[in-house]
Amino acid sequence: MTCPFCGKEFGEAAARTACAGCSLVGGCRKVKCPHCGYEMPEETRLVRAIRRWRSRRHDRSAD
Ligand SMILES: [Zn+2]
Repeated sequence: MTCPFCGKEFGEAAARTACAGCSLVGGCRKVKCPHCGYEMPEETRLVRAIRRWRSRRHDRSAD
């Protein structure tokens, strides 16, 4: 995923590790950018599916 703040890419696992303090108490449903520390809500499976679907449509229409 890409950080909306600094624009760098990072893995979901790294983001969760960065927010380790929260995961001890069951998780805060947020991910934290390991580069700049920016916290953002974790993407749900639904949001991810919609984005994948939209990007696929966008690729086709751009052709
Ligand atoms: Zn960042």
